[in-house]
Amino acid sequence: MEILEERIRKDGVVKEGNVLKVDSFLNHQMDVQLFHEMGLEWKELFKDKPINKILTIEASGIGIACVVAECFNVPVVFAKKAASINLDGEMYTSKVESFTKKRVFDIIVSKKFLSPDDHILIIDDFLANGCAVMGLIDLINAAGATVEGVGIAIEKGFQQGGRMIREKGIQLESLAIVEGMNAETGEIVFRH
Ligand code: 5GP
Repeated sequence: MEILEERIRKDGVVKEGNVLKVDSFLNHQMDVQLFHEMGLEWKELFKDKPINKILTIEASGIGIACVVAECFNVPVVFAKKAASINLDGEMYTSKVESFTKKRVFDIIVSKKFLSPDDHILIIDDFLANGCAVMGLIDLINAAGATVEGVGIAIEKGFQQGGRMIREKGIQLESLAIVEGMNAETGEIVFRH
């Protein structure tokens, strides 16, 4: 998606450890107009899918997912991260290793908000090793719901997440795919 790539080129900062910082428009200060354009793009890309719910993970996926949910006119649910949980049977749970914080979190969604009738589009800001998306897929499978697709703002194509999800036969639509980036020069190369 041209306007997202342009924005990453203009405002993205490449950090050591394969981290791309986009906190001036995506995951700290948020450009809601850009999110709306992204939502319309996903609406077109997933127009054949009977999506009735958006699922994301806190915290940085929530802003994007809310705007996207408005474009699809469906509710949005976010998985909560918890350091430890009481398994009281009321929650679907999975484990996710955080790429940026290098910690393992339990993620939880109340059973009230996922059901076998749900056809779900997963939305997140970044795709790196795929742990966050795989955790969300676990929750959806536990509920007997259907994964209709995954929409990612920025996929880092040199990490394994994208390949893992595509190999599962899931429709993955990343609006920008970074092929490579260099922390010294700040150069970012996109896949087309
Ligand atoms: P994964 O679970 O695919 O390894 O990583 C995805 C999650 O880690 C995303 O939800 C995102 O919050 C965070 N993340 C991964 N890579 C980056 C990055 O380069 N920059 C930022 N800002 N967040 C990232």
